[in-house]
Amino acid sequence: MRIIPCALMFSAAIVAAAQQKPILLHDAALVDGTGAQVRPHVDITLHKGYIESVKPTYKQDAPKGVDIVECAGKTVIPGLISAHSHLGILLDNATPSANAYTTENVTAALNQFERYGVTTIVSLGLNRDLVYELRDQQRAGKLGGATILTAGRGIGVPNGAPVLDVAPDQIYRPANADEARKVVDELAGHHADLVKMWLDSGHGKLPPMDPAVYTAVIEEAHKRHLKVAAHVYAFADAKSLVNANVDIFAHSVRDQAVDSAFATSLIDHKIWYIPTLTLVEAFYLYASDPDVMKSSFFQQAAGPQLLAKLQAPDYAEKTLAAPQTEQAKKDYEMAMKNLKALRDAGVNIAFGTDSGAVPGRIPGFAEHRELEDLVAAGLTPLQAITLATGENGRLLHEINPKVTVGLVKEGYSADLIILSADPLMDVRNTRHMDAVYHHGVLVPNTPPQN
Ligand SMILES: [Zn+2]
Repeated sequence: MRIIPCALMFSAAIVAAAQQKPILLHDAALVDGTGAQVRPHVDITLHKGYIESVKPTYKQDAPKGVDIVECAGKTVIPGLISAHSHLGILLDNATPSANAYTTENVTAALNQFERYGVTTIVSLGLNRDLVYELRDQQRAGKLGGATILTAGRGIGVPNGAPVLDVAPDQIYRPANADEARKVVDELAGHHADLVKMWLDSGHGKLPPMDPAVYTAVIEEAHKRHLKVAAHVYAFADAKSLVNANVDIFAHSVRDQAVDSAFATSLIDHKIWYIPTLTLVEAFYLYASDPDVMKSSFFQQAAGPQLLAKLQAPDYAEKTLAAPQTEQAKKDYEMAMKNLKALRDAGVNIAFGTDSGAVPGRIPGFAEHRELEDLVAAGLTPLQAITLATGENGRLLHEINPKVTVGLVKEGYSADLIILSADPLMDVRNTRHMDAVYHHGVLVPNTPPQN
């Protein structure tokens, strides 16, 4: 038997050993992802990629044939899940490019998510068909990084949303209901995990999606047993989508306050709501609160190119003076208010960030920031962590029943984070990651803790 202190586990030899023998995380405090209060003195055994057991800490003889990781004083939480992220849109986290969707860039992003404790992501549209190959390679154990579920290209509007600098083969833009059904069939043929579409008229500046198109998308997707996630901004669009049987709202309603009838309709239709608070804030956060950029935890995630942009002498002044910033601040307040109202009403709330879509929505950092934003919106740290873990796991299991993630529970994928500080005291303590395990394997190079 070997005792491995948590902080000293980063050698390749130990990673290799971890893959062979069961690993026992000994005497941890456990936040298991279900929403239950912390359980002190727990032993968690990981074997062959899954959680084999979760038991009270052994009192006398240590089990034989296991590697023991001493976790006294530490808190274990499930690996974080983002149900709304993107891959291959930016070069170096900093520059949108139609040439960014390459194996190299996508793999780098997946590795960054994983190092930051985000062990599963839904790449919610704007993927090249390369994503299906990468997902297959992951399933065959040939490619690491955060586990991908994907909506493939996603469905936008001709000359409308999404307005992003991506290659033509990263998005479908069907002109009518027939074309819409065809692209859904193509997605189903690729075994996409779900369908994504964009309803956003950019405050009246963009052509809206034809109701015949989104109705056809949803009908065809349901025929093919695929759930549909919709980008929304406006309350009116959200209400139309409830009537059209959408399954997931990929963003907050941001133009006005939702009402209790809307909450009830979401509950009745079992619709999920992903608030993505940090995406709204990322328009101005680094200008209005430059201190968030001081930590090494942030700087490693941003990388030198983005950091140079955000710290340029004129960045803050220009950003704060831009008319979009005033709108984004209003949108952020509205998003927080609507999230709290819908959660209190009992709507299924999931967790996502839109990380990777535009510069400033930084893979890994965005997810830890979203937890902080959820707490700012009125959730407790335990409630926020539960959305990012157990609740998102429930959503992903509905999307793909083979996926068992989000809980530290027997039979679930061994995806978890060992924290050196208590996240229920301060949700920012999720940044104090001593170790990340993904499918039972220790992830190298977790980021600096401050
Ligand atoms: Zn998005």
